[in-house]
Amino acid sequence: MSDVPQQPSKQGIAYLVGAGPGDAGLLTLRGRDLLARADVVIYDYLCNPDHLDHVRPEAEIIYAGKSGGNHTLTQDQINALIVEKVRAGGTVVRLKGGDPFVFGRGGEEAQELVAAGLAFEVVPGITSAIAAPAYAGIPITHRDFASGFTVLTGHEDPTKENSAIDWEALARFKGTKVVLMGVERLRAVSGALLAHGADPATPAALVRWGTWGKQETLAATLGTLADEAEARGFKAPAVTVIGGVVSLRGELNWFETRPLFGQRIVVTRTRAQAGVLSSRLRELGADILEIPTIRIEPVPVSDGAWDDFSGRFDWLLLTSPNAADFFFDRFLERHGDIRALGPVKIAVVGPGTAARVRARALGIARQPQVFTSEALAAAFAEEEVRGKRFAFPHGDLAGEGLPETLRALGGVVTEWILYRTVPETEDRRGTRRRFEEEGASWITFASSSAAENWHRLGLAHPPGLRIASMGPVTSATLRKLGYEVAVEAAESTISGLIEALLKSGKTAEKESIQ
Ligand code: SAH
Repeated sequence: MSDVPQQPSKQGIAYLVGAGPGDAGLLTLRGRDLLARADVVIYDYLCNPDHLDHVRPEAEIIYAGKSGGNHTLTQDQINALIVEKVRAGGTVVRLKGGDPFVFGRGGEEAQELVAAGLAFEVVPGITSAIAAPAYAGIPITHRDFASGFTVLTGHEDPTKENSAIDWEALARFKGTKVVLMGVERLRAVSGALLAHGADPATPAALVRWGTWGKQETLAATLGTLADEAEARGFKAPAVTVIGGVVSLRGELNWFETRPLFGQRIVVTRTRAQAGVLSSRLRELGADILEIPTIRIEPVPVSDGAWDDFSGRFDWLLLTSPNAADFFFDRFLERHGDIRALGPVKIAVVGPGTAARVRARALGIARQPQVFTSEALAAAFAEEEVRGKRFAFPHGDLAGEGLPETLRALGGVVTEWILYRTVPETEDRRGTRRRFEEEGASWITFASSSAAENWHRLGLAHPPGLRIASMGPVTSATLRKLGYEVAVEAAESTISGLIEALLKSGKTAEKESIQ
């Protein structure tokens, strides 16, 4: 008998989690933790798909989106699906836009779970009713304008005889009114308020895709909003805000005045960048489409050296964080104990790899001052290398330089290819689809390999899309591939690239994005 305790059989549970209004940062910590733990995630149209980055790759992700009349699954099917997945023992996250209990039928989903005798928990979220106005510079309450607010659905037809909404009381209510859903009923809603005595000069605004990079706001008055929305072709999803607080927008419009607001920028994702560029551009107000171009796949290894690693090598060479992760994960799968490494010394190139090694409570015996594999090779003295045995696990793109130099110095190098880089074909977050449907104003390339990987994806280059390049080397690669470079960073760093975008962003045609 093993003394490792048996796992009790798993009880299923559903978490009704609010995804927040859109901005990827407006998800609760509890929501993020549950996404990371989920076996199944069922999400909606209004959830930012970036949240799916928190989900484990093995988890099942189901899109239950509804956009306008376009229902992928009916509410009954969604309810049945949640119940089925929880019954099967799954940890199910039902991710819903905004707050799960503010419209969107979260309450009904909870009732279904109760009826089925299943466990559930609710994780509130930031509702668009408050967040969308906030990002448009409209505080939902303010001492000078409103000491309360009411949130109602626009789905109710105000011309219906038995409307569930008391329009007369609502017209009299002095606080801020926020209407969710039913942009197409805006005329009927404002008409009902006016018919019951509301002042047509009351400031009113529509906020579309609030808190997203693609947010749009239309400010008018209760009397003119419907006409203006129609003239501009203003579409769902949007909230309507009615009340004196809307007039504060002129003073408090903090989000839409950011320097890159209204610019849609494609960031081609590479390992090295790790989202720094995206998050900085996002903070400058840009609408970011992060499109991964490459994926890393494990390569099967059938080398006996895995079995008796200990004592066979003097040095273990790790030249990238991926190489470290693939090596240690596979090694532990095989041996179950890091001590099977034996007394081998570890040499790394960069700080990222060093961190991965230290995270496994292992020390680093050698790291060059300059973070290149040539510098690592140079850090080994000839007399140190002669007759020594080096283990060098790496990916399919690692350079030949390091093993060649060590062999030339009389070392014995054993190499394994543990993973390979392939073009990304999945589009889990739908960013590639958005790019193909909506286009963009800019695409950024932070390296030659990013340019090559992008080119390999074979996506169409829409008119109006301009290229920002990290520097002369990247630009040369881009030109060789047949692209025209619009701007190049003066200094080849992320900050340099952002600087270049900011400079020409001022002159870019905002109309080029819809
Ligand atoms: N539970 C959600 C609301 C679901 S009902 C919440 O708390 O926000 C769907 C309606 O919410 C949409 O028709 C739209 O009116 C509004 N909505 C949701 N996200 C929005 C956003 N980012 N910007 C503007 N309106 C949004």
